Amino acid sequence: MKTDIKADRKVDKKEILTVENLVKHYGSDENLVRAVDHTSLTIERGKFTAIVGRSGSGKSTLLHLIGGLDRPDKGIVRIAGTDIFSLKDDRLAEFRRKKIGFIFQDYNLIPSLNVWENVVLPLGLDNRKVNSGEVNAVLERIGLTEKKEAMPNVLSGGQKQRTAIARALVARPAIILADEPTGNLDSQTELEVMSLLKSCVTDFGQTLVMITHDEMIAQMADRVIEVEDGKVVNN
Ligand code: ADP
Ligand code: MG
Repeated sequence: MKTDIKADRKVDKKEILTVENLVKHYGSDENLVRAVDHTSLTIERGKFTAIVGRSGSGKSTLLHLIGGLDRPDKGIVRIAGTDIFSLKDDRLAEFRRKKIGFIFQDYNLIPSLNVWENVVLPLGLDNRKVNSGEVNAVLERIGLTEKKEAMPNVLSGGQKQRTAIARALVARPAIILADEPTGNLDSQTELEVMSLLKSCVTDFGQTLVMITHDEMIAQMADRVIEVEDGKVVNN
């Protein structure tokens, strides 16, 4: 894939993500919502960045744009050297699968697949070889070795989210994007999952951008970006 070659050449660069003058508005006239309003930012490789801000401030819209799940009205998102919105839809979908790991509040596991199958699913979609040793190492690190064959419906919330984390990690993405990943967990499990996620960022050299409204979680980050009315107000 052409974009991969381009991306790999820039692999030594410190910034993994740059956002330039990004705009996403919804509605018009009196119903106009400036969900993302001329936002620019840079994220460094290997860092854990938290995005904070009140409900409705535009955090999820920004993260969706960064992850190429939605297209902006204006602006540029560059991930590992690739201008993602210059890609046509099918190429963008492929880029997303290969280069971006998503972790959502509601886990997004496939109910009919067991833990192992869920974790290796994104690799299979791109006909990438499943390295069992590597997948086992991630599952071990995440504490899911005993649950490899379990179906999602028998897992606790924490185990479901850990499966989603493992799924994001095995694809070795350029960046992991997480939207309130502990929003459905009790506070004890939240702390466990967060510690695990943070140590995986360190152990696997991953870059993590996470939305949270939780002050304690934001404090675990290397950097905090504050969003208000679609604008970055503090970072
Ligand atoms: P946050 O994640 O910080 O709570 P969101 O990004 O979800 O904020 O939403 C920012 C603003 O954009 C809100 O006012 C929300 O109602 C609006 N919004 C988000 N998505 C849509 C959409 N698909 N259509 C219309 N308005 C939207
Ligand atoms: Mg949100």
